[in-house]
Amino acid sequence: MKKYKHMHYQINDKGYYGEFGGAYIPEMLHANIEELRTRYLSIIAQEDFQEEYKDLLSNYVGRPTPLSYARRLSAKYKSKIYLKREDLTHTGAHKINNTVGQILIAKRMGKTRIIAETGAGQHGVAAATVCALMGMKCIVYMGEVDIKRQSPNVTRMKMLGAEVRVVKSGSRTLKDATNEAIRDWINHPVDTYYIIGSVVGPHPYPDMVARFQSVISDEIQKQLKKTEGREFPDKIIACVGGGSNAAGAFYHFLDNKEVELIAVEGEGLGISSGKTAATIRTGEEGVFQGSKTLLMQDQDGQIVEPYSISAGLDYPGVGPFHAHLFKSGRGTYLVATDKEALAAAFELTKLEGIIPALESAHALAALKKIVLLPDDIVVVNLSGRGDKDLEIYSKNGNYE
Ligand SMILES: *Cc1c(COP(=O)(O)O)cnc(C)c1O
Repeated sequence: MKKYKHMHYQINDKGYYGEFGGAYIPEMLHANIEELRTRYLSIIAQEDFQEEYKDLLSNYVGRPTPLSYARRLSAKYKSKIYLKREDLTHTGAHKINNTVGQILIAKRMGKTRIIAETGAGQHGVAAATVCALMGMKCIVYMGEVDIKRQSPNVTRMKMLGAEVRVVKSGSRTLKDATNEAIRDWINHPVDTYYIIGSVVGPHPYPDMVARFQSVISDEIQKQLKKTEGREFPDKIIACVGGGSNAAGAFYHFLDNKEVELIAVEGEGLGISSGKTAATIRTGEEGVFQGSKTLLMQDQDGQIVEPYSISAGLDYPGVGPFHAHLFKSGRGTYLVATDKEALAAAFELTKLEGIIPALESAHALAALKKIVLLPDDIVVVNLSGRGDKDLEIYSKNGNYE
């Protein structure tokens, strides 16, 4: 197996990806973050941790997920297209890879109380799931607006035994929920562990979450080796909200320049409409939720409310991993509008019998935006399934 060096695109020992990352935190969080920073790598390296993590991934999450050759989609786009099937994991999206990893870290740090933030509720459900599995107390902070928009996920979390705390401050959405979770953590520094849901937040979270999601590209390597006789694709495409499924899909290919890394943001109604979640495209450097990154802000440095039809992409920041891949030129960052994503979702459903999550549909929409050669091996990371989006699909459907 070829050994890749992770020199330029991985985090450095100060917690930075190039100029992005770091840990910009209030003094009162310092002890919590230090405890995690000094321990996470050695905990992950422990043999019993690896054993338990791998056992849960195979026997609870359902890994490895298939790498499905998409025959009819390939014929249409005149290229060899594979789908990495994160939609087939327990709970229906990649987020569980991360929460399984973090709950094991929390246990080994002796923590008994778990907190999490959630926007659409997907991360909240993934966190509540592993807490039920481990018999741990779980508190999920969620904005009042999001609770109204995402009631099935609220029901799931409650059924799983989590306490959902309504956040009524600010715009009553994800960033306010995050602020409340941080406040909780400051007030409960000893017994509480904060499970963050993407490659965002202060160091070491972005690196830790990327490591847990890297199981995606690890499996792609092995699966391509079997089907194609080589362990890397020519192109790999993933959608980006905070950036965790894309980070996991890119991880083991970062230093192989033969692999084109293509990330797709939610363009919403269009870049110039102001109703967008295209953080990389429209964002500027700033500090947001603990790290230096690109984020959507106005002239006064206030966060601009993001918009995307897909709740998982509706985030005003992006992980420092992606800010750096973009700035260094290693990654190609595209955008897809709500409309383009919807069209791609209907297309995949009809051609392959797979209803994708709206987030993942943004990655599929990129097939129309890039040059595809007949010999190209292309992997699209199908981050989740579309059950949660049926209401939107039925409103926008074209069933003729
Ligand atoms: C949450 C979510 C995303 C976006 O999060 P990332 O951290 O960018 O991966 C994408 N797809 C699905 C299905 C999600 O639930």
